[in-house]
Amino acid sequence: MGQHQPEHQGESRTDSVRRRFLKLGLAAGAGAAAIGGGVLGYLTTRRDEAEDTARPRPDGPPLDGAEPPESAEIGDGVRESAWFRDAGDGTLECTLCPHSCRIEPGQRGMCRVRMNRDGAGHTLVYGTPALVQTDPVERKPYFHFLPGRRALSISTAGCPLKCSFCEVWDMALVDPEEVQTYDLPPKRIVEHAQANQVDAVSYAFGEPVAFYEYVYDTASLAREAGMRNLVHTSGYIAEEPLAALIDKLDAVNLDIKSIDPEFYRRRCGGELSVVQNTARRLKRSEVHIEVTNLVIPTLNDGDDSIRGLARWIVDELGPDTPLHLARFYPLYQLRNLPPTPVSTLEKARQIARDAGVRYVYIARVDGHEAEDTYCPSCGEMVIDRLGFVIEEMRLEDGKCPGCGTPIPGRWA
Ligand code: SF4
Repeated sequence: MGQHQPEHQGESRTDSVRRRFLKLGLAAGAGAAAIGGGVLGYLTTRRDEAEDTARPRPDGPPLDGAEPPESAEIGDGVRESAWFRDAGDGTLECTLCPHSCRIEPGQRGMCRVRMNRDGAGHTLVYGTPALVQTDPVERKPYFHFLPGRRALSISTAGCPLKCSFCEVWDMALVDPEEVQTYDLPPKRIVEHAQANQVDAVSYAFGEPVAFYEYVYDTASLAREAGMRNLVHTSGYIAEEPLAALIDKLDAVNLDIKSIDPEFYRRRCGGELSVVQNTARRLKRSEVHIEVTNLVIPTLNDGDDSIRGLARWIVDELGPDTPLHLARFYPLYQLRNLPPTPVSTLEKARQIARDAGVRYVYIARVDGHEAEDTYCPSCGEMVIDRLGFVIEEMRLEDGKCPGCGTPIPGRWA
């Protein structure tokens, strides 16, 4: 049975409705603009903002000596990788993700950023991010992990999946030569993070599996420097490299795009079971997990689809795993579909809660009451958010101030 979560206990329905309209009014005004454009990190995303996100956008102190060149050139980010094995006749098999690409000399794998160069396996995006920016962790999105803290995000070209609804297709689904990049090896990323006085380095917006070696080395240095490491990923990775990386990570937001295996095959070019295995492996670790599901009209927004996903999360990851139901906006290969109606997201949220997920958020509808965190026992609002901004933190030592129920998360 799902948890009953009365909304805004202590407020009359009129107060609750008024509050919601007030928040929506704020969001429609300066709020959204102040927070900035967003894609996988979310706010009231507009299409023009979504398309903007794949461009280099430094935030904070200047990146001295790391200005993006006029155009990227292959060679800038080339680094030999251990995640290949000999497949005979000069061919290499990449062991980083379950596609197990067999790559002939001079050729690249499906993700476009891993190459057989004269019989040796290489990554092409080591230290060459196409995106560098600083945001609140809420934008990654994490709602139960270091609320209000900031992280430096990096991402490169490349992805093992080919989602028809990819929101960063002009960065993730292109060759590395097609995006402008910075020359920022791991040490410089950590220095830049320290200069920005952030608490974490975030590997997000694109697909961290595609720049695994860069993630691994940066995360190692960031950990030594006392920073956390956050990953937002599709989870399309083989077991061995995941196991090698997992101890470096503090939090993962895992995209589960649908609970339907056929959806993954047709719309993403991958297997749902791989993502499920990644989720289970993360669950057995110390890593904090949140899940994001992009709700796409007509494709994965059916009641059974949402219910199936929610039940799987409850059974495999636990009812306290935060679930972010993100609004779809038309782009890339799905420009024919409308944005997800807010009513669809609200219905999906109710279905997920009825299935037992205790913390279900609606993403990219700024000012919606489902941006806030509520106590599952008494319904009291315990974290008040507007977009990525914490408006009021009411938790006391991680507990509901109304009834004392512990709210799971890492709050400090
Ligand atoms: S990481 Fe890239 S090259 Fe390696 S198996 Fe996956 S898609 Fe192929």
